[in-house]
Amino acid sequence: MKCPFCGDPNTQVTDTRENDDGDVVRRRRRCVCCDRRFTTYERIDLKRPHIVKRNGNRCEYERGKLVASMELALRKRPVTTEALEAAVERIEARLLAAGETEIASAQVGELVMKELRRLDKVAYIRYASVYRNFADVDEFSTLVREVQPRPRRSGRARTPPGETEHDLFDR
Ligand SMILES: [Zn+2]
Repeated sequence: MKCPFCGDPNTQVTDTRENDDGDVVRRRRRCVCCDRRFTTYERIDLKRPHIVKRNGNRCEYERGKLVASMELALRKRPVTTEALEAAVERIEARLLAAGETEIASAQVGELVMKELRRLDKVAYIRYASVYRNFADVDEFSTLVREVQPRPRRSGRARTPPGETEHDLFDR
């Protein structure tokens, strides 16, 4: 740690203390060159990225919101809490591994859809239909066909998805 007074890179730690919660370490340091003392604080940096919404606003990433949005899609579906937890873990691992300080909410949405698609097709369609802004009904029909490969009698047209802008972190 460089001395803030003379800029010398050689400083000695003379004392190290943790706060009561154990999440901050305070170190007293002495500059070998000018003999002045200073204190540094060390904190855990989890590097949780900020989420950038479609409207440009930024917010803290919150696991609870992510889980809530997935639970909503999975309501009354036969998916265990363990399977949901594992999916959330995978999403978080991807978010943190990217090492980015900012991530677009759309990118998080894509990760969620990928996991839901593996977990439960119905939940996937529920989530995708409100999350994605479908350009038209055809795009939605294509998505439904993608996850329901069995041929069906082409009957009545499906109700187009809601047009409301849904944002993962706007709940
Ligand atoms: Zn110094």
